[in-house]
Amino acid sequence: GVVDALGPGATGVEVAEPVAVYGAWGCGVCHACAQGAENYCPRASSLGIQPPGLGAPGAMAEYLVVDDARHLVPLGDLDPVAAVSLTDAGLTPYHAIVSSLGALPAGSTAVVIGVGGLGHVGIQILRAITGATVIALDLNEDKLKLAREVGAHRALPSDESAVESIRSLTVGVGAQAVFDFVGNGPTLEIARQVVALNGVIQIVGIGGAVLPTGFFSTPMGATVRAPYWGTRSELMEVLDLARAGAIHVETERFTLDEAPEAYRRLHEGMVRGRAVVVP
Ligand code: ZN
Repeated sequence: GVVDALGPGATGVEVAEPVAVYGAWGCGVCHACAQGAENYCPRASSLGIQPPGLGAPGAMAEYLVVDDARHLVPLGDLDPVAAVSLTDAGLTPYHAIVSSLGALPAGSTAVVIGVGGLGHVGIQILRAITGATVIALDLNEDKLKLAREVGAHRALPSDESAVESIRSLTVGVGAQAVFDFVGNGPTLEIARQVVALNGVIQIVGIGGAVLPTGFFSTPMGATVRAPYWGTRSELMEVLDLARAGAIHVETERFTLDEAPEAYRRLHEGMVRGRAVVVP
């Protein structure tokens, strides 16, 4: 949106300036926050910091109160409606992928499980900043079509055939990085079986299942990580990627009155990309 008004003492942004809101608010002064990693602020919970829309009401409305100008990133000429989802659907996969860059040189393979709001942006980010061959998995044929449209080299059904297909496509080696944007039992099992020796599994989806890790479960050297959202500087980088035309979020637009319908479609897995409610 645009800055509508500044509270007493607020500086650093101008009224009418188009901005994106960085959503993972921390204390702003600890070591993690000093690095921009407010998503990993160890004090946020004890200080009762609850960003609007995530634990506190206030995001789905005409106006949004932001505690500090540091949580605002200039949008420049990006369209707010097209760009708003980048603050989550772009930032979350970007954070996971950036922390796996060492595993994804040219010639490597990355698997994306789940081509939803985050996964379809994850595919684009992988294509934009890594040399990996990208294999996307989903249960829904429309989502597989979307995966191909946004740059996946291969898009395959996320069923019992997936493991053998990926093993075959990688000549038995497996994938150097697996990004599970679902996080349920069957997807984690696919991740476990397709990750390469010394590879990395990033459990991004909050399906809540558990992946047994260790000798006789995951391959030797494999890392399993459950990242959360992203850092302030990474959001700037995500917006830069969008500005360069390298990534975009597929969006369906709804009015505020239509928000319940947006939730219904989301619940039924019918939303292509992200639903954006525009007051
Ligand atoms: Zn902090």
